Amino acid sequence: MSLKKIPKNSEPLFSSKEISLIVEKVGQELTTHLKNSPHPNEGDTLFVGILKGSWMFMADLVRKVDFPLQVEFVRASSYGSAKESSRLVKVENMNGLNIKNRDIFLVDEIIDTGRTLLALKKLFLEEGARSVKLVALLDKKSRREVDINADFVGVEIPDAFVIGYGLDWGERYRDLSDIRVVS
Ligand code: 5GP
Ligand code: MG
Repeated sequence: MSLKKIPKNSEPLFSSKEISLIVEKVGQELTTHLKNSPHPNEGDTLFVGILKGSWMFMADLVRKVDFPLQVEFVRASSYGSAKESSRLVKVENMNGLNIKNRDIFLVDEIIDTGRTLLALKKLFLEEGARSVKLVALLDKKSRREVDINADFVGVEIPDAFVIGYGLDWGERYRDLSDIRVVS
């Protein structure tokens, strides 16, 4: 019996088999896009994962993308007033990142209000990226608070709190291989 703990008040949403099919689909879409885009220099393509949630998705995704690319991670967290509408996004680990004239793919496991990806997209464009595309495994479209959509989406999900496959609940459950809804 597995020693991994699963919260009692949770229901399965996507099994690890289903997740790998979704990731494979996103990988194929990215492969097609990359093969059909101009690439002046080798090494232009940079996938940037948003920690911590995206690490497992990133690891699976890059192996499904049939195109040479590089991988970096930044850490993003929202902070500020308790009022959600005025939340700010703090970004760490940008130092030393070579962004100029590169095609950036921001990889997040979930897009919710959209504030994190919007802030990061702005930041990367200000830092001189040639292009910034957004990749999200899960999309809670009904929760969006800002005008932004991911360019590559795994699957849309309803407004619910999900855990597993990198997603935490108070730093726990990131290590589950499936995705569950907490009720
Ligand atoms: P956004 O800025 O789009 O509101 O949210 C971005 C981050 O909030 C996600 O990358 C993720 O870390 C966290 N988040 C949003 N929805 C959920 C969820 O249902 N479960 C968990 N564990 N984290 C979430
Ligand atoms: Mg995240």
